[in-house]
Amino acid sequence: MRYLVISDIHANLEAFEAVMAAAAPLGWDHVLVLGDLVGYGADPNAVIDRVRDLAPHAVIRGNHDKVGSGIESADGFNAVARSAIHWTLDALTDANRAWLAALPAGPVLVNELIEICHGTPFDEDAYVFDDLDALRALHASKRQLCLFGHTHVQVGYSIANSQFAVETVSDARPLEVALDGHARYLINPGSVGQPRDGDPRAGFALVDTDRRRVTIHRIPYPVARAQARILEMGLPEILAERLGVGR
Ligand code: ZN
Repeated sequence: MRYLVISDIHANLEAFEAVMAAAAPLGWDHVLVLGDLVGYGADPNAVIDRVRDLAPHAVIRGNHDKVGSGIESADGFNAVARSAIHWTLDALTDANRAWLAALPAGPVLVNELIEICHGTPFDEDAYVFDDLDALRALHASKRQLCLFGHTHVQVGYSIANSQFAVETVSDARPLEVALDGHARYLINPGSVGQPRDGDPRAGFALVDTDRRRVTIHRIPYPVARAQARILEMGLPEILAERLGVGR
């Protein structure tokens, strides 16, 4: 079985469409969505409509989905994120707002191999920023492969016999991570709609459970169009600018 893994789309329709177009010829059977469908970007309704059309095998909520659907306050957000999420809450149709509000929290156990979460398996809102965070998340995971989002950075970690390793030291894309039977893995497919590692290209991953491998991809998309949409909607200009630098 092949799973297409997407996270942190953030209402960036241009990036989302480019990822779906790039993933189609690679082949996949099911889609997993790791949260933050909305927030920051200009097309929350179109993105939710497309995700619903895909009938994903599993979708979990992110922190922006909670605030964007009105089930949590924007207290923890900075001024720019708050302004964008209030715009989102207003822009969503009643049906999409209700659908977003009903998304389950992670972690979700997908099958015998895979678990998904937005931040970490022990706290949906916690960030994996460093090796120690990754170790805590690896130990909290109930499956050999834990997929996460939230940081908008493509990264993979593993642990086997107390040996911790970073699996994504190479910048080459696509990058293949072979799943060793003795190790546990924690992998972030990167952000579709707002990458933050200095590379503006959209990220996604494919998991092949039969061949026991994860492939991490990065693809270009029409950034200028996504930026124009953000300005057109009157969202903060910095949200358009950051897409151009991948931060
Ligand atoms: Zn996010």
